Amino acid sequence: MDQIMYYSTNGKAPDVTLAEALLTGQAPDKGLYMPRTIPQVTDGELASLKGKTYPEIAEFILSKYVLDTFSREVLRDLCVDAYDYDVPLENVFERTYIMRLDRGPTASFKDFAARMMGRMIGALMRGQKRELVILTATSGDTGSAIAHAFYQIPNIQVMVLFPPAEVSNRQRKQMTTLGDNVSTVGVSGKFDDCQALVKQAFADPELSSIRLTSANSINIGRLLPQIVYYFYAYSKLANPGEEIIFSVPSGNFGDMMGSLLAKRMGLPIRKIIIATNANDEVPNYMGTGVYSKIVPSRVCISNAMNVGHPSNFARVIDMYGGWMDESGKIHRQPDMISMRSDMFSVSINDQQTRMTIKDAWESNRLLLEPHGAVGWAGLKRYIEESGDSGLMVSVETAHPAKFPEEIEALLNIVPDIPPSLMGLEEKTEEYFEMPVDYNTFRSILKERYEP
Ligand SMILES: *Cc1c(COP(=O)(O)O)cnc(C)c1O
Repeated sequence: MDQIMYYSTNGKAPDVTLAEALLTGQAPDKGLYMPRTIPQVTDGELASLKGKTYPEIAEFILSKYVLDTFSREVLRDLCVDAYDYDVPLENVFERTYIMRLDRGPTASFKDFAARMMGRMIGALMRGQKRELVILTATSGDTGSAIAHAFYQIPNIQVMVLFPPAEVSNRQRKQMTTLGDNVSTVGVSGKFDDCQALVKQAFADPELSSIRLTSANSINIGRLLPQIVYYFYAYSKLANPGEEIIFSVPSGNFGDMMGSLLAKRMGLPIRKIIIATNANDEVPNYMGTGVYSKIVPSRVCISNAMNVGHPSNFARVIDMYGGWMDESGKIHRQPDMISMRSDMFSVSINDQQTRMTIKDAWESNRLLLEPHGAVGWAGLKRYIEESGDSGLMVSVETAHPAKFPEEIEALLNIVPDIPPSLMGLEEKTEEYFEMPVDYNTFRSILKERYEP
């Protein structure tokens, strides 16, 4: 069987197949899985992507990683089924564009990865006797993206834990109105409590008869689909041989890892602009070579990027020959010179984010929400400092209608609600409520899922 093996960034676990990496998520040595070889896209193949649809490009790129894990026909069906929505590329000025990754069912870019991972895991579970239970904790967007991604996929159950006090009404309803194979549990505590309960369940021998797995942002199945839209943007916008620059608003560094893998596969990316909010541990590291995580993480209006220690950064370090363990300790420095030449990193605070939303609207009639505004501000900073004027694409990761209060206060307009978010008000919600108590949680799991 033709396949790529996946190694752990901590180097103390055996290599696994894509199927194993998808089903386990994290390596047993707490490292992250990475492909042993990065498949290449030739100039001819790159040229042949022009004019292709999003599902076609997804099938082409992912086939290079999937190889014989499932057939090309199965992969094609998964791509057509997962990517049944638009990927708008909006011209802002000259050769500068916004790519809107917000047209999926939960209106955030996480749909791209979650929907494909859900379908790939679903394909692996086809015909298996034992159900797989996906257990995940969320502070907002991830939970609904995962719930939607696995919704009604045979042989899979989903349980999402969330802190009701920390998620918005809209975010909660996106998870609790699905039903079927999706169960939601409101835990009267904080996001960290939810995460601790999930971790304890994974380590609990009493639950060994239930096949539990996580679907968090470190799963390789979340990473590979995030390579695709960079190729898609290039295929739509670039002239033959032209280089491209991407600006990626970053929190856990999964999205920008997609662009880095695209570059290593052969996409001619001149620069990856990494824009963080006030959680500036990576821009600081790029400047000084000293990494210190931010604990607790800083609260910013781009809340999905409030990350003081990005879980995927160990992968970035690995790609440049370094080694960072799961605690954030760097055992071997990466090649900083080549990192700095590939990437431009910048931290944008809330005040700058708000000014950017206002300025983009007033100068360019460009409607941004806080995450995309961080990316756009990063791109503007890069242009200022480098004088570069090439083909540039800034990534917008959420729909402005998810942040109506912020946008109305700044721009005096109410963003249109996309079809995916409509009708939530009328749907019936269903979820358990539970104190922060592991024994209660274990009973719920046993009662629901024990065979
Ligand atoms: C998760 C998220 C991000 C950050 O993406 P990472 O892959 O974690 O860097 C940015 N914007 C939105 C809207 C998100 O939900």
